[in-house]
Amino acid sequence: MDFEFDLIVVGAGSGGLAAAKRAASYGAKVAIIEVNKIGGTCVIRGCVPKKLMVYAANNRSNMYSAEGYGLISKEITFKSNILLKNVREEVSRLSELHSNSLKKLNVEVFEGHGRFLNQNFIEIVCPKTKNILGKVSAKKILISVGGKPKKLNIPGIEYAWSSDDIFELKDFPKTLLIVGGGYIACEFASIFKNLGTEVTQLVRGKNLLNGFDKDLSECLEKSMTALGIDLKFKNQLKSIKKINGNLESTLASGNKLLTQNILIATGREPNLERLHLENLNLKMDGAFLEVNELNQTSNPNIFAIGDVIKKPNLTPVAIEQGRVFADNYFAYHKRRVNYKNIPKAVFTIPEISTVGLSEEEAKEIYSEVNIKIFKCSFNPMSNTFKKNKSKCLLKLVVNKMNDKVLGCHMFGEAASEIIQMVSVSLNAGITKKDFDTTMALHPTISEEFVTMYG
Ligand code: NDP
Repeated sequence: MDFEFDLIVVGAGSGGLAAAKRAASYGAKVAIIEVNKIGGTCVIRGCVPKKLMVYAANNRSNMYSAEGYGLISKEITFKSNILLKNVREEVSRLSELHSNSLKKLNVEVFEGHGRFLNQNFIEIVCPKTKNILGKVSAKKILISVGGKPKKLNIPGIEYAWSSDDIFELKDFPKTLLIVGGGYIACEFASIFKNLGTEVTQLVRGKNLLNGFDKDLSECLEKSMTALGIDLKFKNQLKSIKKINGNLESTLASGNKLLTQNILIATGREPNLERLHLENLNLKMDGAFLEVNELNQTSNPNIFAIGDVIKKPNLTPVAIEQGRVFADNYFAYHKRRVNYKNIPKAVFTIPEISTVGLSEEEAKEIYSEVNIKIFKCSFNPMSNTFKKNKSKCLLKLVVNKMNDKVLGCHMFGEAASEIIQMVSVSLNAGITKKDFDTTMALHPTISEEFVTMYG
């Protein structure tokens, strides 16, 4: 049977775009279906607009230390409406760039919700009217619809924001309750507080950033507390009430909090429900689609990448999955995604970045006696004239049996830029001796990585 396309990609986020562009570059006839702006979570309502806000927060934080350098200015005024408008314009520009590159590669774009009729046919539906706009067919279909914020099932949840709502705001709130202790909660707590909002952060566990090296989450906790973020651990949100334009939160402890707004950041989940997957009977892995190492689902014509599968839900991972899929099926270039040593960062101020195993993970895998920890914590030179001085932390987790560096962790300025490069050496199997025999670059923060002795 002939189909209109070689490949239909459902979802034009980072992963879907990477797959569509790579397959089209090999001469495949490709269609892509998207209901929102081209770009997906990362470009439209995630990494990109968030990072622009981090730059704003960083600039303001630096302005407060300017006097120490003799830079005297009048009172700093933050106009959040200007920041939000500029961020939206930049996001639209990037979305347009992606649309143009799809055009250049002759990828046909269909606007609307895609839903499966069978393993080769997809129906496109208008999200507003629910009218069926058309039907397209392909030999292969790639699901790259991404994730969506998880909602808490509590009374009054309709008054709270998810991270998606932040980028639609006209102005920043004066007071904000943030629920969660993960990536999104910590990053927004840092952005809002550094830009003048009073922030309370509610965490159900006893520490921030579960799964990260404990030393890093402790450093972040100290720094966020010193900045004035009101961290409340071992507590949960039970209900929300609207009172005279503000929101009253009732906590599990019985305490009440009054804030202008509430941001729920309690994780994300695959955005699969509108795809009509019941027509296909695909195997699931919990809420995620089950795939093999070629990203093929239990139906050989259907593939899945990004936040709908159970792999690290990070933009570069989705992009690589998309490219590997296209290389394998449209260029017959056999290769696999390398999931080892994926660098991660939490863009707080200062930031956290990490690659490889945490101390806790390494001890569990190799046993405590076989692990050696090297770490140093100090006031970086950039703190000299700062009012809020967060010490930085550098840490290496080493396998005593073969001297291999298993994990490299950092809390401090430019941590993400440093760890990105260290991840190359971890991938290549670097040893502690390699660190020790590398010359330091002075004066930097990261020079301490090559001068740590146990
Ligand atoms: P995370 O999984 O990072 O954090 C979720 C947080 O919510 C945890 O603290 C979790 O607690 C808490 N939580 C979960 N359920 C509840 C509940 N019912 N009540 C109270 N607290 C709850 O998710 P995020 O939403 O922050 O981010 C989603 C994903 O997006 C990340 O995992 C990451 O993959 C990606 N992301 C990456 C970024 C980056 O690379 N810089 C930035 C932003 C997002 P507990 O730990 O106890 O489970």
